[in-house]
Amino acid sequence: MQFVTHLEFAGVTIATDAGISGTGYTVTVGHGGRVIQEAIDTLFADDLPGKDPRDVREIWQQLYFGKSHWIGRAGATTMAQSAIDIALWDINAKAAGLPLWQLLGAARHSDIPIYNTHAGWLNHSIDQLRDEALKLLDQGYTALKMKVGLPDSREDRRRVEAVRKAIGDGTLLMVDANQKWDLMQACHAARLLQDQDLAWLEEPLHPDDIRSHRVLAQSTSIPIALGEHVYTTHAFRDYLEYNAVAVVQVDVCRIGGVTPWLDVAALANAFNIRVCPHAGDLMQVHQHLVKVIPNNWLLEVIPIWERGPFRHQVRLQGGKCLAPAEPGASSDFTPEALEEFRIG
Ligand code: MG
Repeated sequence: MQFVTHLEFAGVTIATDAGISGTGYTVTVGHGGRVIQEAIDTLFADDLPGKDPRDVREIWQQLYFGKSHWIGRAGATTMAQSAIDIALWDINAKAAGLPLWQLLGAARHSDIPIYNTHAGWLNHSIDQLRDEALKLLDQGYTALKMKVGLPDSREDRRRVEAVRKAIGDGTLLMVDANQKWDLMQACHAARLLQDQDLAWLEEPLHPDDIRSHRVLAQSTSIPIALGEHVYTTHAFRDYLEYNAVAVVQVDVCRIGGVTPWLDVAALANAFNIRVCPHAGDLMQVHQHLVKVIPNNWLLEVIPIWERGPFRHQVRLQGGKCLAPAEPGASSDFTPEALEEFRIG
C-alpha cells in the first residue's frame, strides 16, 4: 500500500532592513518537520542578523561550516539550510524585481515540459493503471511515471507491460522503485523490464550505495535516475564520476537550497547528464531552476499541487509548466494557508 496522509512544511521568512522579505521552506511527508524547524531555529537563525542577503553564497558556506557541521551535513540539517538559502534567493530576486529564473539568467525561455509522477501507485490494479494512464494522455501528458518494487518482479513486469501497451510507444514511461531492492533483485527486475523502452529506472537501491548503482548501471541499458535522497554535492560528484547515474534528480529542498542545487546541475552538465529535479518543493522553486540550466529535461509534477498553499502557484498547461512571472522564487505562502495549517 502507498498513501500519504499529509505533508509538513518547515520554513523561514527572513526580513531585511530594505523592507523586502523572503520565504524558504522544505517539505517532509508526514513526520520530521519539527526536527527541521528546530534546526532552523537553533542552528542557523541566530547567525543571520546583520548579514547582507546579496552575499548568499558566502552565507551558505558560513552556515554549512557552522553549528550544524558536527551533527549534520546530510538530512535534517541540509533540509533546514535549504529553507534559509531559498529565502535569501527569494529576497535577491524580489530586490531585482525579477522572477528567480530571470535573475539567474535563463537557459531556456520557452515553457518547460513536465512529466506526471502520479500515474501508477503500487496499490492500483492493472486495470486502474491502464485507465489512469489513458486519462493522463487525454489531458495532454506525454510523459508518465509509475511505481515498481513489488516482492515479485514478474508482477512489476506485467504491470509495466500493460501500461506500455495501453499508451503505445510515443509516450515516455519511467518507473520508480523507491529503494525497495537489493542489488540482485534490482538486476533481475531491470532484466525483466529491459524491453519496455523505459526513460529511466528511479531509485532502485539504497541512495548511499554508489557502488551497487554502478554495478546495476553496467548490467542494464535502462538509464538509472536518482537524487531525491542525495544530500551532498560530493555524493553527486561520485555518482557521476563512477557512471552510476544517468538522470540527476537533485532536490532544492534537500540539497541545501538554490546555491548547491546550481552546483550539482552544473556538475551534471559537465558530465553530459540531464537534470530532472525531484518535486520535493511542490514544483515552486524548481520551475525557476530548470529554466536556468542547459541540461534540463522534464519537470516532475503532481497536478493536485497546483492547488497548494503558495501565493503564486505553479501553473501547468498542456504538458508544460508555464514560466513564473512574479518577482521572487514563488516560495511565499498565502496568509490564509499559514493561519490554517500552523502547528505549535
Ligand atoms: Mg521517486
